[in-house]
Amino acid sequence: MQKSKKKQIVIAGAGLIGSTMAIALASKGFDVTVVDGAKKKDRIERNKGRTYALSRASKNLLSNLGLWDPKKLHVSPIENIVLSTRNETSNTIGHLAEFNKESSKIGPSSYMIEDAYLRAVLSSEIDRNTKIEIVDSTEVIQAETNSFEAKIILSDKSSISTEILIISGGRESAFVKRLNKRFFRKSYNQVAIVGNLSHKNMHNFAAHQIFLPGGPLAILPLKGKRSTFVWTLPIEMGNKLSKSKGEVFINHLKENIGDILINPSVIGEKKMFPLYLRFLRDSVDNRKVFIGDSAQAIHPLAGQGLNIGLRDVASLVDTLSNGKKLGLDLGGVDLLKRYETWRSFDRISLTTYTDLINALFSNNNFYLKALREFGMSVIDRSPLLKDFFIKEAAGEYGNLPDLLKQ
Ligand SMILES: Cc1cc2nc3c(=O)[nH]c(=O)nc-3n(C[C@H](O)[C@H](O)[C@H](O)COP(=O)(O)OP(=O)(O)OC[C@H]3O[C@@H](n4cnc5c(N)ncnc54)[C@H](O)[C@@H]3O)c2cc1C
Repeated sequence: MQKSKKKQIVIAGAGLIGSTMAIALASKGFDVTVVDGAKKKDRIERNKGRTYALSRASKNLLSNLGLWDPKKLHVSPIENIVLSTRNETSNTIGHLAEFNKESSKIGPSSYMIEDAYLRAVLSSEIDRNTKIEIVDSTEVIQAETNSFEAKIILSDKSSISTEILIISGGRESAFVKRLNKRFFRKSYNQVAIVGNLSHKNMHNFAAHQIFLPGGPLAILPLKGKRSTFVWTLPIEMGNKLSKSKGEVFINHLKENIGDILINPSVIGEKKMFPLYLRFLRDSVDNRKVFIGDSAQAIHPLAGQGLNIGLRDVASLVDTLSNGKKLGLDLGGVDLLKRYETWRSFDRISLTTYTDLINALFSNNNFYLKALREFGMSVIDRSPLLKDFFIKEAAGEYGNLPDLLKQ
């Protein structure tokens, strides 16, 4: 066994969630070590071309950490949300509901952001922040805990003793799987194909969600005459389509988006993700907390996975900094249970909501189709309901931690 170190807080995983967690903790005076199994350049490469819809609450978090720089982040606000469905018989796009910027009195509910820019901003802050140490290419492979500390064994055979281990290893971490935690897991038998498009027309900052029988297709505005697409499809169809090149793919896309984009063409590579729900029942353990996709991996149809992870970040930072002020043990179960209780409503409700919407919309059942079209027309005509949904999309509900407030 090699050298052993002592650290105040250790984070396993320097993805977008682990990195933001480190910066948020450092802003409250904690010393943090972040360990990631991959090299920095591989983390950038494997997420190349990915984009996210960031809620207003997530924007507030980045602002409060001094990281919200629209120029550096190349953000594109979402000013209109248009929900529609494709009429199979006439092959036309049918309107379901629209949420425009007038529905919200305080600016856009979400912003599109590209992975490369967000990752670069987080990474440069981590590199300059003296309260954060980053250890690349080193995996957390084991964690033994007792009433005094967590002893973390790393893949280079060194070890770290710490008060608390925050686990942000994403949805596929082998370490998390080895911990044998109780997860609720359900396969959607769907994949999502994602990629970016250039086109001739202006998108006017409108986000489109077209509900198709196999799953929703989202077209979201990026900076300039560019958009991103997230297309949910049954596995077999998705596998076939993701391999189709150039014209074949674009023609298939055009058949489903009507005249939303003029002359679209794919920029760079498409990526495909298998879709499943994975929900950790107990997100805290003795000296361990699971956040982000390690705690809940949800359907991407509402574009909320990263946002819910950032809400984990803000609530955990609040809990730990209050604990520190009171002189409490940071890894103590009592303190961590407070965090878990705080997060449980949001975690359960968003997971259930995305699951239900997918079940309700990703099919061709006559009765469900009639039900959702009726439901949507009620929402479309009700400013009150629209206001409620905009607030949900903005992530501004419930008892918000300080870092999410404007
Ligand atoms: C198709 C699709 C579209 C999406 N669109 C949106 C959207 O529009 N808006 C939104 O909010 N969310 C969206 N999401 C969700 C979002 O992508 C995820 O919630 C988010 O990327 C999770 O980040 P993370 O840091 O938790 O995990 P990851 O990005 O998976 O990072 C985990 C990190 O941990 C490291 N790691 C793993 N195990 C260990 C270990 N044992 N030791 C050390 N390091 C380890 C890995 O190397 C990796 O760097 C989408 C998801 C999908 C699939």
